[in-house]
Amino acid sequence: MQAVSRYLKSLMLLELFQGLNVTFRYWRSPKETLNYPEEKTPKSARFRGLHALRRYPNGEERCIACKLCEAVCPALAITIDSHQREDGTRRTTRYDIDLFKCIFCGFCEESCPVDSIVETDISEYHFENRGENVVSKQQLLAIGDRYEDRIAAARQQDAAYR
Ligand code: SF4
Ligand code: SF4
Repeated sequence: MQAVSRYLKSLMLLELFQGLNVTFRYWRSPKETLNYPEEKTPKSARFRGLHALRRYPNGEERCIACKLCEAVCPALAITIDSHQREDGTRRTTRYDIDLFKCIFCGFCEESCPVDSIVETDISEYHFENRGENVVSKQQLLAIGDRYEDRIAAARQQDAAYR
């Protein structure tokens, strides 16, 4: 009996029409695919991309070298050296993040008491030479300076949930 039913189904091209039915149903529905990189999906304000170190509006770097981010980092990706300045404040002399080790968990950002280390929404970057995966303090500050408006806007958007 099953063999007869199978024969009749194939004779009447039933499965073909079922397949075409699905095709026609999705013919005019909105497309889910994007032509990346010309088209991009919107990103959450909590997107965890490339890191940055921020400054206060007067230009002073926020980081106070408390090393909480270094301690909390599960991948041991952050390396900090620090010194005490003449005015008694403490600042980093070295702040490296190894992006090959980093798992973009956001713990460093969460632990920072002064909103210094943050993860930006930048996800498109590349390295051309060995060693460029270790991003230095100067590079992180430069990223922070360049994208401060975007960073501040994202944090403002997320402020109610922090
Ligand atoms: S995002 Fe996570 S893994 Fe990466 S540096 Fe921060 S704490 Fe470490
Ligand atoms: S970035 Fe924040 S958590 Fe890390 S050492 Fe500086 S102040 Fe402390």
